[in-house]
Formats: sequence, C-alpha cells, structure tokens
Amino acid sequence: MTVGTAPTSAERTGELRHNLADVRERIAAAARAAGRDPAALTLIAVSKTWPAADVLALTRLGIDQFGENRDQEGRPKSVAVATGRSAGVGPTTAIADPVTWHFIGRLQRNKARAVASWADWIHSVDRESLVSGLEAGAAAAGRTPSVCIQVSLDVPGSEPTVGPGGPTRGGAPPDAVERIAQLVADAPHLRLAGVMAVAPIGRPARPAFARLRVVHERLLADHPRATVMSAGMSSDLADAVAEGATHLRVGTALFGHRPRFP
Ligand SMILES: *Cc1c(COP(=O)(O)O)cnc(C)c1O
Repeated sequence: MTVGTAPTSAERTGELRHNLADVRERIAAAARAAGRDPAALTLIAVSKTWPAADVLALTRLGIDQFGENRDQEGRPKSVAVATGRSAGVGPTTAIADPVTWHFIGRLQRNKARAVASWADWIHSVDRESLVSGLEAGAAAAGRTPSVCIQVSLDVPGSEPTVGPGGPTRGGAPPDAVERIAQLVADAPHLRLAGVMAVAPIGRPARPAFARLRVVHERLLADHPRATVMSAGMSSDLADAVAEGATHLRVGTALFGHRPRFP
C-alpha cells in the first residue's frame, strides 16, 4: 500500500528525522569539500514504494521536493498527499507551500501525456518521441513542467548498464542531447531545466559525473537558463556534488531499503 495516508508512527517519524539529519550532514560535508554553498543544492526525497504518510511526515520536517518513478504510483500518491495536507493529517504545523513532484523514472511514450498532468518536473526525457506527448499533456492541464534531458553515462563501446530494474537505466547518448533539448525548448508548455543522469552500476561514479558535467556545459552554451544538473543518489551524492550537481535524488538513505526494487 504505497499511497496510504494512515498517520506514521512516532517511531517511523523519528527514523525519518534521524535519516534526514544524516543526509543533510552528508550533503553539507560534500558541499564544504567541494567549496560549494549547500544552500545551492536541492534535495529531492525519492519516495517510490513508500506510503503517502511518509511523504506527509517529511513535509512536516521541512522537505517539499519528492521523486517518483512510475505514473501508476506517483499520480495517486500526489493526490493523497495533497488531500492529506488539506485535511491536516497529523500535526498541522508547517503546512506551507504545495509539494513539488519530480518524475525520475523511465518514461514510456504512452505515459508521457499522463505524467505531464501531475509531475512538476520530468527528469527523464531521453528521446525526441517523448516531447509531443509531454507538451500535449502539459497544455491540456494548463501547466508548464520543467524538463531535464537524461544523459546515458555508459561508456561507448562497453556493455550498457544492466540493473535489477531492467536492461538499462535509460538516457540519451551525449551527442543526441542538443537535439532533444531544442525540441523541449521550442515546446510552449515545457521549460528546459537542464540534464539528469544515473551513474553506471559497478563503475566509479565520479568520472561518469565528470562526463555529465561536460555535456551540461555544452548545453548551457546554447541554453543559459538550463542550469540544473540532476545527479547523485544515496550512494554517490558526494561525487555528484563534487562535479557540480544541483539536484540530488535520495531514496534509500532517507526512507530505508525499499521492500522491492521498483
Ligand atoms: C530510485 C532512484 C533514485 C534514488 O536511489 P537511492 O539509491 O535509493 O537513493 C534516484 N534516481 C533514480 C532515477 C531512481 O530511480
């Protein structure tokens, strides 16, 4: 039951508070080491597989950015969270701004329209054929989601990344990024925000993020407002911060180990 809003136990809230303090300390330390301002880093809590109640608990701890990787899960959860907040589920302190939802998963063409109706951000646009569906969904909903182009960090000529979630984590080859980005930039209801990537499994993350940084700098030359570099997860966030990441997508370190791989 991943969309339930039954209030979290005091124990779970304590666990989330403790994990969040840990993650914030890791981010601050990584920023210090890189000579960067921690305030310039955005933490996205990746809530996939976790109930809306956990999201509500984190909003009361000051988190307002959440990541989901499936339309079937993210859409009802975003509704449950909005409903739970307006009903004041749990302690009603600090009900401030609405939460921001980031879609970070593999995007199917037949889901693009639907995702654009609830996600405020879409990090995983990795082919041109997704753009028309996103634009149509955003226009129909009267919204303007922010879009990152997902870049593959697999090394050309070596085996593509194979993870438990499927044959590949997705991503456009670096030389296709500019073309996809231009389509997004030309879409009236989409805002080109930057680039996103997942480090290859089983290889050092830092050099992979360094390659993402180069791709990002190339994109910035043509699209100076596409300032976002979405990179870094629970295990490699310091490497991502060192290479210029602006948005960190952290699941396990905040919520614990997922009961199943999504
Ligand atoms: C699940 C997921 C994350 C979070 O990963 P953790 O290792 O749990 O922090 C980040 N990015 C993407 C694309 C994901 O699917």
